[in-house]
Amino acid sequence: MAHTAKQDSKPNNSLWADSSSEISYSSSHSDSYDVAIIGGGFSGLWSAYHLLKLNPDLSIVIFEAQRIGFGASGRNGGWASSDYPVYRSTLEKRHGTEKTTALFSAITRAIDEIGEFAQKNAPAASFVKSGTVMFARNIAQERRLKDSQDDLHIWKEKSELKEMIRVRDARGGLFNPECATINPIGLVQGLSTYLLAKGVTICESVYASATEDGVLANSSLVSAPIVIQATEVFGDHQREFIPLYSLMVATQPLTDTQWREIGVDSRFTFAEGSHLINYAQRTADNRLAIGGRGATYPLRSRLISAKEMTDSVHESLRNLAQSWFPALRDVKFTHAWGGAVAITRNWEPYVHFDSSRGFGRLGGYAGDGVTMSYLASKILAHLITGQRNDLTNLHFVNKKIRKWEPEPLRYLAVNSMVKLSGIADKEEARTGRPSLVSKIIAPLILR
Ligand SMILES: Cc1cc2nc3c(=O)[nH]c(=O)nc-3n(C[C@H](O)[C@H](O)[C@H](O)COP(=O)(O)OP(=O)(O)OC[C@H]3O[C@@H](n4cnc5c(N)ncnc54)[C@H](O)[C@@H]3O)c2cc1C
Repeated sequence: MAHTAKQDSKPNNSLWADSSSEISYSSSHSDSYDVAIIGGGFSGLWSAYHLLKLNPDLSIVIFEAQRIGFGASGRNGGWASSDYPVYRSTLEKRHGTEKTTALFSAITRAIDEIGEFAQKNAPAASFVKSGTVMFARNIAQERRLKDSQDDLHIWKEKSELKEMIRVRDARGGLFNPECATINPIGLVQGLSTYLLAKGVTICESVYASATEDGVLANSSLVSAPIVIQATEVFGDHQREFIPLYSLMVATQPLTDTQWREIGVDSRFTFAEGSHLINYAQRTADNRLAIGGRGATYPLRSRLISAKEMTDSVHESLRNLAQSWFPALRDVKFTHAWGGAVAITRNWEPYVHFDSSRGFGRLGGYAGDGVTMSYLASKILAHLITGQRNDLTNLHFVNKKIRKWEPEPLRYLAVNSMVKLSGIADKEEARTGRPSLVSKIIAPLILR
């Protein structure tokens, strides 16, 4: 049976955790449940939520090794977006237009369903669906973004963009209305409070692994005919996914004058259309929170908590924010944190249910897990309760995961991609032309 790797991650030192309230979860559990869930992040919590929607009589326990929301779910950038880790054009080539359209409809529905839940049960999530803007600051970015226009992604000329957000050197941007901004811990806590009220047992500080008949929870056996592995990047990777670190920083709350200079009145999320991923939001308490990649991949996919605090990445995020918005020049950055995301070889998430063993697992969302964890959990709940429908027919459901290359090839290839993305951005900023480097790496990435 599947087991989990030892966790290596620092306690959640994110802005979100810093401003959250304490919830006390039970320290005891019974020795038998209908469903045992390993992992107290969005995947585990939403799995319980969807299962109860389909069958309110189920007895469910969630085991979390650390604290609820300890992993990426409590540390992320708060984009509940309609982005999928693989580009739409690639999906259409791989799976056809019909399957691709079905996927994006399910994703946009998922954002609205998260919103409905948050309005009723998680006010601290500060959910607002105002869309997202990806802006171009050089000609190469502008060309790339204009090329990716479609029904959902609308190009805004420089003057239109300025009405929304004032970024130095911005040449225009792509606006996608299908994205919401959240406070991740607010959503985690609203969800766990809701589940407690519905009778779900939630246990923190319990390290669990799946066994033949249920789980081994710390040192006690708990029987359960259905077990869900919702540990994402903390699971045993077996070359099915790699961890990549995403890091964030946040400013002190900014003044009204500073926000008047920047814009973002409706709190849409935003990013620059560079190769190296970056993402930002205006928080409900008026800070700027910005995140991005750039930390190197750890050899043999080992989780190394020190990577969450890679100084050079935090520094380049602060510099990036200040280069976008001169108003931030003398502003204090009060928080710096990070976490890992799980990336499969073809960048697709997975949802598996083996009914003969009663074993389900889900994850591999790359950096798009806020919405995808909701959707994947809903699909898993449908599979577990024996329903077959449009959701369970989505192309990535119950599909074998392609393995990553063995080491040291994997280490060399992934770190070259990380480095080359940064080089490609510098080249484009300097020359204004689409980077030659990016043309070489794009087909290798399989996105
Ligand atoms: C810095 C950062 C920014 C991000 N920004 C965004 C964003 O803006 N939008 C977006 O869509 N996605 C974003 N993501 C990705 C997103 O947060 C994740 O994909 C998603 O939260 C994964 O949820 P999960 O529940 O599957 O995993 P996790 O939240 O990692 O939960 C897994 C849980 O399992 C627990 N666990 C592990 N092993 C065991 C065990 N043996 N026993 C018991 N418990 C165990 C862990 O402690 C952890 O709490 C970001 C991620 C990071 C790190």
